[in-house]
Amino acid sequence: MPLRAKVASSVSRTAAALSRAAGRGDGSVIGGWIGLKIDPELLAHLSAGRAIALISGTNGKTTTTRLAAAAVGVLGRVATNSFGANMPTGHTSALAKAGSTPYAVLEVDEHYLAQVIEATDPHVVALLNLSRDQLDRAKEVAMMAQLWRAALIRHPDVRIIANADDPMVVWAATPPATHDQRITAPHVTWFSAGQRWHDDSWVCPECGSTIQRSGDQWWCTGCPLRRPDPQWTVDDQGVVDPTGAWYKVKLQLPGKVNVGNAATALAVAAEFGVRPFDAVPRLGDVTSVAGRYAQVVRDGRTVRLLLAKNPASWLEAFDMADEAPTLLSINARDPDGLDTSWLFDVDFAPLRGRQVLITGDRAYDLAVRLEVNDVPFQYVRSFDDAVRAVPPGRLEVIANYTAFQDIRAELDRVN
Ligand SMILES: [Zn+2]
Repeated sequence: MPLRAKVASSVSRTAAALSRAAGRGDGSVIGGWIGLKIDPELLAHLSAGRAIALISGTNGKTTTTRLAAAAVGVLGRVATNSFGANMPTGHTSALAKAGSTPYAVLEVDEHYLAQVIEATDPHVVALLNLSRDQLDRAKEVAMMAQLWRAALIRHPDVRIIANADDPMVVWAATPPATHDQRITAPHVTWFSAGQRWHDDSWVCPECGSTIQRSGDQWWCTGCPLRRPDPQWTVDDQGVVDPTGAWYKVKLQLPGKVNVGNAATALAVAAEFGVRPFDAVPRLGDVTSVAGRYAQVVRDGRTVRLLLAKNPASWLEAFDMADEAPTLLSINARDPDGLDTSWLFDVDFAPLRGRQVLITGDRAYDLAVRLEVNDVPFQYVRSFDDAVRAVPPGRLEVIANYTAFQDIRAELDRVN
């Protein structure tokens, strides 16, 4: 590395360590910020010589990154931003901290994917899904897909792992007017992990016609855009690879959605030459991801924490949660997005028949939504009150970002 980059990297590590020592989180944002101030090209310098995978999408990227890093770990040391700092400051910090590693697997905020592709020259990019998120500030889904597509057209040698079930992703991974060619191109590998949320992809991003669905299939009624045949699929607790071989995937993470994340991770690792046979056992070692899916016993209740940030991830959380008393907690602080109108995009009907409790800064917004949705609920002032209000046994907690952090902090104080 050039001298400036070496100095920047060293200062970045020190700043992050100081921040951690001062109890201000993991320090990756401030460390990366200082490093990039000293050398604006630092991320590119730190990326040189590493084989890098980038993982992006609205949902599932933290978990998929963790699983993919575990899978690529078969080959050697892997640098990764495991705490969700998924912007260039976080990537810079993660690579500086890891020192020299042959591999890196980085979670990337979807808004920054184009910029991070430019800086890191990745070997492979995984595109998970695109759906509405943080209505007050995120880009429209179609604009996001356009940004991704433009970035990938500028880097035709990048290998792409993309979700065949998401029309917006398929379009983003496909250059203009050549859908059919690109779908059979060797550098795009399609996976199918199912997609519950369809409400951001009824309109074709290519021609504006309606997209129709039947079973797993979808197709545009006005142009050739349609679901490509996936090479990696999910099947009853297992993953099927492009040769047709089935691997049992035993995860400690709940839900079919995580088996889908595992399939994506295996597809990413395969681009580095990792065989699923070698990687699968490592996926089972992943327990919780930044506190998500963590289980804590409290007063005879087994509490499980699920993070859900936007309508698509709420649908997935309902799938992961057991049929048990469920606490929903909603805030609308800055990291959550300030607009809670998205609550009306979520169908809470799957919760009917369970004991439902609500809390959080914006519990009353949630109350209105549940009332309209005909889901009985009980308001509780705190997490503690929720624990007391349910019988011994399991308590599922589904919370959005800062609400989740609040509950984690409360649990940490006790445990
Ligand atoms: Zn179309």
